[in-house]
Amino acid sequence: MNDLSKAKTLTEASSADDYDPNSMPVDQARALIRQFLTPIDGTLRVPVRSALNRVLAQDVISPFNVPAHNNSAMDGYALRFSDLHAEGETSLRIAGTAFAGKPYTGTLAGGEAIRIMTGAKLPDSLDTIVMQERVRAEGANILVPAGQKKAQHVRYAGEDLKAGASALMRGQLVRAAELGLIASLGIGEVSVFRPLRVAFFSTGDELRSIGTPLGDGDIYDSNRYTLYGMLKRMEFDLYDLGVVRDDPAAVERAFVEASRIGDVVISSGGVSVGDADFVKQMLNKLGEVLFWKIAMKPGRPLAYGKIGKAHFFGLPGNPVAVMVTFYQFVRDALMTLAGQTPIPPLPTLPAVCTSALKKAPGRTEFQRGILSCDSNGAWTVQATGEQGSAILSSMSSANCFIILPTAQGDVAPGTTVQVQVLEGLI
Ligand code: AMP
Ligand code: MG
Repeated sequence: MNDLSKAKTLTEASSADDYDPNSMPVDQARALIRQFLTPIDGTLRVPVRSALNRVLAQDVISPFNVPAHNNSAMDGYALRFSDLHAEGETSLRIAGTAFAGKPYTGTLAGGEAIRIMTGAKLPDSLDTIVMQERVRAEGANILVPAGQKKAQHVRYAGEDLKAGASALMRGQLVRAAELGLIASLGIGEVSVFRPLRVAFFSTGDELRSIGTPLGDGDIYDSNRYTLYGMLKRMEFDLYDLGVVRDDPAAVERAFVEASRIGDVVISSGGVSVGDADFVKQMLNKLGEVLFWKIAMKPGRPLAYGKIGKAHFFGLPGNPVAVMVTFYQFVRDALMTLAGQTPIPPLPTLPAVCTSALKKAPGRTEFQRGILSCDSNGAWTVQATGEQGSAILSSMSSANCFIILPTAQGDVAPGTTVQVQVLEGLI
């Protein structure tokens, strides 16, 4: 039992043959984390609008057939297919009209048709619809050409959903389409997972909060703000625990408090070499935590583990690295813990890179890029410029990550690269 992918505990994982804390490929780290994630317990019933951006905890069952009755997919005429001649035109008398919400209630004799609007109920005795553009009017009659197909343009009762079928499954994230779908079933309340509780803080003696003057060598804490921004995209309960000094007692207190409050604890800073030692010792006392150097840039140091019941993500301190590691590791994990399944992978698309990029083989790089569509409709991407992991403005001017795989070396202009679009994430 030395295979990383089969480890059941973090301790087992850390002694697997293929576990190398000094060079963890991105995919392997992601897969390892995934092994330890199960959705939180706890559900609540909410009015349908409040379910937006939350995760369904129960299937939504359709109480009726959708559509409820056979109806027309077109504005046209409803008729009996057996009335049509195989060749030439057939003249049919128009007996009345069916509107959406106002069905035709008369009885139809042979050789009669009705005018029918899109969505209007199809009378039981009729089986076929002819588009209005296909027929010619002749007084109170229509002339229908040959060549119609039986049952054309009919939407059948239950063809979308059968009564009793699952319209939406547990684990589905509720977006605009799901809100509408739930409403279309006449359902006013649904069961969702309770919000995931996420506690986060920054570590560093140099960090000051807004409103405090900067001393020599100090900087303002920005990571809590980017983290807040990224977390706020999801319906989580957030607990911002502020800045914690690089003092063992203060850091320990913060971890203990955060793990009591949160299903998830996220810290930034303090996991790079030097710092990691005292944080490591402390976390080994409080829980089971693995520290890695991920084979990626930015975002090399990363910690993941459990502190009590809470999942812990120790992100690097550099502001760009915080964002990259959040998107590449934390976002999916939070969605899984929040009950969502399946988690669709973030899409990537090929684009022609117009910049020369410096890249050392041996690690995955997430460079910041500006993606645009040229006049021929082709996607091109240029680098934002300086790619230092402290240059947060590069994230602001970027609209995508340029993902350069492990084996890739320098990139010459004109090379096709894969990009991951940030729109919708940030
Ligand atoms: P560390 O991982 O703690 O060594 O931090 C790496 C770099 O990120 C250092 O230059 C820190 O000053 C910077 N840094 C750490 N935390 C923050 C933060 N919350 N906001 C802005 N910069 C930070
Ligand atoms: Mg630090």
